[in-house]
Amino acid sequence: MGQISGSQLVIDSLRREGVDTIYVLPGDPVGPIVNGWASGGFQAIAVRHEQVAAMAAQAHSYLTRTVGVCIAASGVGQTNTMTGIANAYSNCWPLLVIGGSSELRRRNMGDFQELPQVETTAPICKWTATVDSIQRIPTLINIAMKQAMAGRPGPVYLDLPAEMISGSVDEDEVTIPQPAPEPARPLAEPQEVKKALEVLSKAERPLLIVGKGAAWSWAEDELLEFVDRTQIPFLTSPMGMGMLPPDHPMNVSAARTQALQGADTILMVGARFNWIFHFGQPPRFASDFKLVQIDIDGSEIGSNVPATVGLVGDAKMVLGQLIGALDETPVAYGESPWLKQLTEKCAENAASIEPMLNSEASPIGYYRILKEIRDFLPKDAIVVADGASTMDISRQVVPVWYPRHRLDAGVAGCVGIGVPFAIASQVVHPDKPVICIQGDWAFGFNGMDIETAARFKLPIVWVVFQNANIDKWVRTYVDGVEDPNDFTPSLRFDVMMEALGGHGEFVESPEQIRPALERAFSSGKASLINVIMDPGAGRRQQEFAWLAREGRMGYS
Ligand code: ADP
Repeated sequence: MGQISGSQLVIDSLRREGVDTIYVLPGDPVGPIVNGWASGGFQAIAVRHEQVAAMAAQAHSYLTRTVGVCIAASGVGQTNTMTGIANAYSNCWPLLVIGGSSELRRRNMGDFQELPQVETTAPICKWTATVDSIQRIPTLINIAMKQAMAGRPGPVYLDLPAEMISGSVDEDEVTIPQPAPEPARPLAEPQEVKKALEVLSKAERPLLIVGKGAAWSWAEDELLEFVDRTQIPFLTSPMGMGMLPPDHPMNVSAARTQALQGADTILMVGARFNWIFHFGQPPRFASDFKLVQIDIDGSEIGSNVPATVGLVGDAKMVLGQLIGALDETPVAYGESPWLKQLTEKCAENAASIEPMLNSEASPIGYYRILKEIRDFLPKDAIVVADGASTMDISRQVVPVWYPRHRLDAGVAGCVGIGVPFAIASQVVHPDKPVICIQGDWAFGFNGMDIETAARFKLPIVWVVFQNANIDKWVRTYVDGVEDPNDFTPSLRFDVMMEALGGHGEFVESPEQIRPALERAFSSGKASLINVIMDPGAGRRQQEFAWLAREGRMGYS
């Protein structure tokens, strides 16, 4: 047989592993891979910053239950992917980053863009490796794929020195591995399943918490069956939204504080007791609640909160086991004072934001903009939310009807995901409406890549909430000192969108919002609605701030 180049082996290996789309910023030395990929007729989403490529690729993973792939140039090109890798790591999402790097034979000689890429990336990856011979490219890509998906998913990094891309080998010398199989779906220990139902059957104030591990597992059918059969009240993490219908009578998300504080028994499915769930500790939780915990990672069981029963396995499978054992060990709650108390609190909380939702005030506050979005959006819309208050308040106001239809800053609190996550959402779901609800600060991180959406004809609609500051409403000020949290007001992001090939809308009063949404979605173009809002607008008074982190960011 003839010679084959390293770049062609990368392309062939990715194709063999089932990859159909790569997110890239072409550059030295990965150019031949990207060009070869595109000339093979495969989809390459070329972006304007490597961070966008890494973030879009991991959203692609989450939405498709595959490994999203990002390819970056060497040195600082690769380090630009780092925040994206960190975000995938925090969210337990698979991601393969392939980084070009300086030539092996010129290492430690001050080669072009020479940096310790593997060493700096390893702590935030499940697995890293450097390709040390062209022949091993298919094997190492195969291992990378398996590592990213196995058990608790996560990011992996493969370093490709320049000569491994440009060099060639005899095809006969290349070992071709069997492509990575579908990730395994392990079952929990059968005796633990029975124990779990016994604990749940004795609960007086039960609560089901659903996280994005359940979403990754595609456990929505089993969750619905379990909730319908047991009548257990539930709430979700921010990205667990949509795993169960928001109008389900057992949805007590709007009484989150009361549900977490009052529950005597919690069934936790694919979520962690990290900061998002206040470490499972008082005063946000009872001090002695019983915990039944489902997680694919055995090391997560009992983290921060002792587990009464730990079910180590895949959420979809383990819920199926629980459902299968319900006849033998019934769990049925039905009407109860606990449910009544929570549903009344939901109604009370909903009523408390009504005046803000319907406010005619100009400049506009968060709630009114979000209410217009809520009323306009079709149920199958994918909602990407990014920023601080914009993202947080959107959870309260904009429902999510289907699994994996909300993406946000997640466990890492990673501001800037909005633009790349929206791009991947529209790439994966070309026929669904995609909206990106984004604060102006958050928009600034990767805002230039709205051009990528325009270039690829992705009709995403951005709504930029422009208060021209970073959370002014929670800050304290010193008179006479210029506030470092302020930005230039009334910037024309809509004009920027038009200049970059999309459709722009400028909104300053409440009645302009709906027509702007209608025009943006019917334009068929990447669009940006620039809403000038009240710089002092805030959220409803809360018993506990969502980010109640004493001593940080002025929250108390
Ligand atoms: P959230 O942000 O929604 O609260 P986290 O990211 O904190 O969720 O936690 C997700 C959890 O889901 C992790 O502990 C992870 O190990 C777990 N997980 C991932 N995949 C699966 C799966 N297939 N089945 C069960 N648990 C899973």
